[in-house]
This record gives sequence, C-alpha cells and structure tokens, in this order.
Amino acid sequence: MSSFADLGLDPKVLSAIAAAGYEKPTPIQAGAIPPALAGRDVLGIAQTGTGKTAGFVLPMITLLGRGRARARMPRSLVLAPTRELAAQVAENFDIYARNTRLTKALLIGGVSFKEQDALIDKGVDVLIATPGRLLDHFERGKLLLTGVQIMVVDEADRMLDMGFIPDIERIFQLTPFTRQTLFFSATMAPEIERITNTFLSAPEKIEVARAATTGENITQGVVLYTASRKDRQAKEKRALLRSLIDREGASCTNAIIFCNRKTEVDIVAKSLCKHGYNAAPIHGDLDQSQRMRTLDSFREGKLQFLCASDVAARGLDVPSVSHVFNYDVPSHAEDYVHRIGRTGRAGRKGKALMICVPHDQKWLADIEKLIGNEIPRLESPLTGAPQSEKGPKSVRTDEARMPPRKREEKRDSAPRTDPPQEKRSRAPRREAPVVGMGDHVPAFLLRSFRTAAGETAE
Ligand code: ADP
Ligand code: MG
Repeated sequence: MSSFADLGLDPKVLSAIAAAGYEKPTPIQAGAIPPALAGRDVLGIAQTGTGKTAGFVLPMITLLGRGRARARMPRSLVLAPTRELAAQVAENFDIYARNTRLTKALLIGGVSFKEQDALIDKGVDVLIATPGRLLDHFERGKLLLTGVQIMVVDEADRMLDMGFIPDIERIFQLTPFTRQTLFFSATMAPEIERITNTFLSAPEKIEVARAATTGENITQGVVLYTASRKDRQAKEKRALLRSLIDREGASCTNAIIFCNRKTEVDIVAKSLCKHGYNAAPIHGDLDQSQRMRTLDSFREGKLQFLCASDVAARGLDVPSVSHVFNYDVPSHAEDYVHRIGRTGRAGRKGKALMICVPHDQKWLADIEKLIGNEIPRLESPLTGAPQSEKGPKSVRTDEARMPPRKREEKRDSAPRTDPPQEKRSRAPRREAPVVGMGDHVPAFLLRSFRTAAGETAE
C-alpha cells in the first residue's frame, strides 16, 4: 500500500496531510494506520524520525471524527515522556486536525495551566500529557479518565529510561479496559514487553527494521584523536570540533552537537559562542522556558548549533538538520543510532561526524558491532593526517573478539601507552598501541589513570 488515500483515513485528514506536503505514508504509518482504524491495539516498533506521530494522530483524528467531547472527560489520551515531545505531538495534531473541529489540551510541567484547565473543564477530544503531570491533575480531581476511548503511549523506551513505567501502569488502570491502545517504542526492552503483554490486547505488531532507519542517506565518519597531552585534551578537542565544523563549510547549515554530560554540553556551547559560532545548549537542567526558546530558535533557523545531551534530544523532531556532530562517542551504542537519526530525515541527505579519543574506542567498537558497519575513519582537520595508528579493522576485530573483562582491562591501559601525537603522525604504527608497557606500569600510575577514566565515563 503506497498511498495515504488507500489507508481509509477521513478525507479531511487526507487534505491536511497533502497540505503538509506528505506524498506517501512511511512504513510505520502504512503498517499502523489500517489496524488502528479497524479499532485494534497497535504495537509499533520503530526508531525516531520514522513518522510515528502521524502513525497514531491520523487514525485518532479519523476515529474521533464522530462524537463530541464531554466536560472533564477527554476522549483520547496521548502520553509522551518529556514536555518537548508532548508539545511536538500537540503541534502535529494542530497540523493534521486543521480541517476538523476537534479540540485538544496540553498538560505539561513548567507552563501556566489556567488555560489548559479551562479547556479540560469544557471538554477536549484529545489530551496530550506527560505522565506525572497527568496524574497530578487527576489526583486533584480535575479530570476523569473513564471516557478515554483511545490511549497512546509514545516513546515508551524513553518512559522506561525516565522511570515512568509505574505511572504508565497506573494510568492504564485508570482508563476503561475497553479502550483502544496504540503503543510505540524504538526498542522492546523486557520491561516494555511486560507492559504490552499486560495492557494491550492481541495487538497488531508493526516492526520497522533498523537498517531502514539508520538511513543510507546519512554519511558517517569518525576522527580518531589523541591529545598531545592528557591535560590538553579538552581544549584540543574543542579546537578539533571547530575545525571539523569549518571543514564542512556552507554545507553545514545547522547541526546538533552531542556531548555525553550536561556539564560538557554547557562548556562546548560556551566555547563555540566565544569563538563566534551561533550556539546554545539544551539539557535537562535548564528551565523549561529556556529549553523551549532554544528549541524554537533552532527550528526557525535563528540558531545554527544546538549542543545537546541524549536525554534532551531523544525523539525531538528538528526538521532538516544538515549535520550531527558527536563530540563524545556515546557510551550506549543505541544512542548513536538515535543521535545520527537527527539528520538525514525523511529522505534528505545528512552527515554524522564523530570525535573519538582513545578512552572511547571501546564504545566505538560497540557501535560498529551494533550497526554492523565500520564507520569510515577521517583525517583530522587539525593535522591533515589520520591521528591514530590503529587500523580500523584491527580496532574492531580485536575488541569485538575479546571477552568483556579482557576488554575492560585493555581500555584502562590504552591512554597510558599512547605515544605523543607528533611521533604518531610521523611514523604511524600498524599494531594496536596497547602492547608497550603492559604489566610494567607502576601501581601509582594505574591508580591515577583509573580515576581519569572513571571521570570520563559519564
Ligand atoms: P518519530 O516520532 O518516529 O520520531 P515524527 O513523527 O516526529 O517521527 O516524524 C519525523 C518527521 O517526518 C517530521 O518532520 C514529520 O513531519 C515528517 N513526516 C512524517 N510522516 C511523513 C510522511 N509520510 N512524508 C513526509 N514526511 C513525513
Ligand atoms: Mg516521536
């Protein structure tokens, strides 16, 4: 099935998506919409950027087309893990429901509630909320969930990461068991599996293969980089990031720069600004209005570089990002897929570039194992020569073959034995650098490096 018109959607919905410029449904949409319209439960498994939102909002609008909202009893409920994601669903709803008279309210923390309260009092068709905020409202008696006919759980794996599963279970129990449930997740962790087994009834399962979503339209590359001195790493790494950005020239219209830690997100954003780049940070410690402002200006093209942590960025829909820079190698391989999924969306071309210091090479190996591909090694724009002597093949196979504990030991020893940078670029070695000192490293040295490594690891 390759056209929206074949899916059974309301003509009003069809004209709204035509106006939005969508030509044909994405695989998750083609898979989820028909069973959803037939009233079945749906379990959709697909990465970010695959069009899940329309996958549940379009059938929802069609199904709610008949019938009217009742005071304090929303007819449908969409749960999203973060305020930004909930706000994004609300924006999408406005686009897809523009030709209907359906109403919505948005219940998220950090913004004023008077208006939303009034809407709910009057009666809304769709309530979009974060779990905590919803329960808050419910407990204050402002809301009845017994009228919910359709319940959507979006980004369930993110809910799990954020500890929302008990809230989700509670909300499931507050809604009628005859409700229809549409449940979406990028992965199926055991805990998610358990929830779906408990609360979904004979769901239609739609799984979109990972290969299709990591996207052939994303060009990837990694610079293996070793600092000239350990204490200069942070500074040099920031200079390397700038030259990577500069090397992309005008093709880099906007980019997300990912760091593993919130403090790093702040430092990198500040440093970029200092050097004349148009950059701002986004992470969980910033207040809601600031996050929204930053995100809006990035969406509107006023902000060119968004420095982000994984938590802040997961699932966010930022259209047409030309580049993703991984300032740090993510320590969870899954996050790499999420991060680079921010570019090359909906068929556009994108580029994902990463910096990898020796300490992070173990994570690089994990990522390559997960994606089943080698990420091409790039020359460092700083030296004009590849910065590591490690042949890409040997990194991967050596590390991948070793049992986990062995690999751990190898990681710890890597920074100690790296030769100074200048030497390395003049006479690149073919072997992995972890041979060298071996057991002869003095105990005090081992200790200090352990601490350094520990600090780097999130
Ligand atoms: P997900 O929730 O899976 O991360 P989104 O629903 O946020 O994905 O959609 C990602 C982007 O793709 C959005 O910008 C959306 O407008 C766009 N999009 C969704 N469906 C289509 C489609 N059928 N054709 C073109 N673009 C689409
Ligand atoms: Mg989404």
